[in-house]
Amino acid sequence: ENAFVWFRNDLRVTHNPALLAASQYSATHGGRVYALLVTSPLEWRSIHNWGLPKASYYVRTVSVLRRELSKRGIEMLLHTPTAKNATEYYKALASEIVQLCKSQNCSAVYMNAEYDGVALERDAAVASALDTAGILHHTTHDQCVVPVGKVLTQSGTPYKVFSQFKKTWIRYIEEHGLDMIDSEPTEIEKSSTILPDIELDLGYDMHEYPNWDLNALHTTFPAGETEARKRLHEFLQKSVSGYHEDRNHFMEGGASKLSAPLAVGAISLTECLLAARIANKGALNSGSPGLLTWMSELCWRDFYRHVLFHFPHVGRGASFRPEFEHLSWRGWPPNIEPAAEEHFQAWCEGRTGYPIVDAAMRQLRREGWLCNRLRMVVAMFLTKDLRIHWRRGEQHFNQFLVDYDFSSNNGGWQWSASTGTDAQPYFRIFNPLLQSEKFDPSGDYIRRYVDELSKVSAPSIHDPFKRCKGFDQLKYPRPIVDHSKVKEQVLALFTAATTVT
Ligand code: FAD
Repeated sequence: ENAFVWFRNDLRVTHNPALLAASQYSATHGGRVYALLVTSPLEWRSIHNWGLPKASYYVRTVSVLRRELSKRGIEMLLHTPTAKNATEYYKALASEIVQLCKSQNCSAVYMNAEYDGVALERDAAVASALDTAGILHHTTHDQCVVPVGKVLTQSGTPYKVFSQFKKTWIRYIEEHGLDMIDSEPTEIEKSSTILPDIELDLGYDMHEYPNWDLNALHTTFPAGETEARKRLHEFLQKSVSGYHEDRNHFMEGGASKLSAPLAVGAISLTECLLAARIANKGALNSGSPGLLTWMSELCWRDFYRHVLFHFPHVGRGASFRPEFEHLSWRGWPPNIEPAAEEHFQAWCEGRTGYPIVDAAMRQLRREGWLCNRLRMVVAMFLTKDLRIHWRRGEQHFNQFLVDYDFSSNNGGWQWSASTGTDAQPYFRIFNPLLQSEKFDPSGDYIRRYVDELSKVSAPSIHDPFKRCKGFDQLKYPRPIVDHSKVKEQVLALFTAATTVT
């Protein structure tokens, strides 16, 4: 009897609990393992809301995984359910997986757990169809270093504050250990055929990606687990020692850029943490400032997944903190208030008149990635300076980030909007000008993305409207809002929302 391993956002052979469990099952039952991959542009585009960068990176990673599995004697079945909409899709998917199991003589399906609302709905529909058909199915823990539900306060409740979560998270790891799972399959019939890349019509409207440079994306984010592992070790050898400082400098590229492989599971978070802990001589709490800061960022990723698991309302578009749900956000629902829409478009296209915001938004549109600080700068500008609902920003990021990941994106947006767990206190609002002067002092980063300012030097480049005499000749937009004025307004609204009884 054979077993299926249903790959989703865990596109790797190493340290893959579902693959290991499927191999063990098939070994016990004298069968073989098949890999199942549902290639559904409908699911990616309309249900998970992935944009083209993430979808195309995903497909490239699937191609690599298919070749790696084939080398190890595992055939990957690519399956696209036929359905017109989400409701139909789940039903079609469930019954077609059952049919596939029957046709391949698979009596068990293994998968790694996912926690966002739509994934849970999908998996529940499939599990119910498998139950009815008498096919065994089993979900393994994979996405977090520490399983969801295992990091709790002494009274058994989930944490809402990161620093406290992190202490218990570290304690759990120290008590329970951290190991790689040996999921490398035993070869059955090693295939010598080299499988080609998968070609799929992803169905995106290319007009929405006018500045898109797919080749640059391929170079910056090579697909597959070997590339991800290579990047991890290079980062740990060459860059991590200065990470705590360099990651904030917009030009220096001090971050690992592992977020894209992590988002599709081409490398596991546990492998990253283990490698960092070894580099830090086994310690999670003391040692190199660069390594400690980086491990802390890995913990943020786990934190947001635990938050999503314990507080599923954040996955349904609601603010974590209900008192800010009805703050008078602009631009929500979309397309009602023309002035808010104009501001939103200016933000999306990098035409706000704030050079650092514009450079970042243009980088996002062109390259599908931003460092964490720039994500915070633009998110805070949208939610605080323009007072536009964080959900608009969250949706825009979905469409452009190559590393789009539901819980990290939602967590980052709610943090920046001060509506989330452990949120940035609402009275601490980034000043885009100061961020720009501090983290791009030479203005090189701005000049790289904002052509209109390519001949302007620092310090004028940070605030050309006030500092450049020939501002009108630059053909660069005037600031669409006055930061110091709107800051006062938004502070008043937040204060009113917190004091309403
Ligand atoms: P590094 O700095 O090298 O960090 C290593 C890894 O730690 C990252 O790959 C990531 O997995 C994790 N990490 C780092 N910072 C955070 C953080 N603040 N929250 C959660 N995990 C973190 N990250 C995503 O992976 N996908 C998203 O869709 C996403 N959207 C975001 C939206 C906003 C508004 C904000 C403020 C942050 C968002 N982040 C998101 C978190 C963070 O910005 C990125 O993970 C990071 O910039 C990716 O670059 P890196 O891999 O070089 O990170």
